[in-house]
Amino acid sequence: MTRMVLLGPPGAGKGTQGQMLAEELGIPQIATGDILRAAVKEGSELGHKAKSYMDAGDLVPDEVMVGIIRDRLQEPDAAEGYILDGFPRTVAQAEALDDMLVAIGQKLDQVVHIDVDNEVLVERLSGRLICRDCGATYHTRFNPPAKDRVCDLCGGELFQREDDQEDTVRSRLAVFEERTQPLVEYYRQQGIYRKVDGDQDPETVRAEILQAIEGK
Ligand code: ADP
Ligand code: ADP
Ligand code: ZN
Repeated sequence: MTRMVLLGPPGAGKGTQGQMLAEELGIPQIATGDILRAAVKEGSELGHKAKSYMDAGDLVPDEVMVGIIRDRLQEPDAAEGYILDGFPRTVAQAEALDDMLVAIGQKLDQVVHIDVDNEVLVERLSGRLICRDCGATYHTRFNPPAKDRVCDLCGGELFQREDDQEDTVRSRLAVFEERTQPLVEYYRQQGIYRKVDGDQDPETVRAEILQAIEGK
């Protein structure tokens, strides 16, 4: 059982690694970006609230995000552990998560930071493709689907996220530096922070994350 956070800038490989680790460890990957995009697609109240922030590359307000996570962690499949991907992204979110966990007698086991330089991130995000149906992630050059614009796993259509255009990417990277980077120090102080070099092939990154969580 493990309760872990995948920390890292947009494009670091949180989704890619989270998917693989969730399968391997038999626990859910909880990706707040996926939850928000599903809400936007559905046209729910949450979707309406979140859309303008997401389009601008800004963070959705903390209280909205904390509410989402509070509900999601109460789902039965989260009882045996989980991988948080994209949450927390601010110190206020991390503090709220700690409070929530204390209240139910749980704690985080590890926070793994996938570290990648900005120039590589821009390249990754500008080529990222997502499956409309199952959410699987591809890259036009680094991880192309077998058939152009078609998902290998489910046959769904692949699309480029609107917020993966270069100017929005630049502001998301700046938001990471300003709002999320302070979590490094926050979790280092708790003694659960680990860093892996994310600029390696996905299999190597996966092995290093597993090492980091086993070596606690
Ligand atoms: P990436 O995979 O590129 O890191 P995500 O899919 O995690 O991006 O997030 C997409 C967008 O959703 C963010 O730019 C932000 O607007 C919003 N979002 C996702 N998670 C959070 C969060 N924990 N706090 C605030 N906003 C969030
Ligand atoms: P995040 O969830 O952190 O935003 P993703 O997992 O969506 O990141 O990865 C961003 C893009 O980079 C995707 O197109 C993905 O296929 C590609 N990618 C992920 N990991 C690697 C890697 N280790 N090397 C090269 N490309 C990668
Ligand atoms: Zn698919």
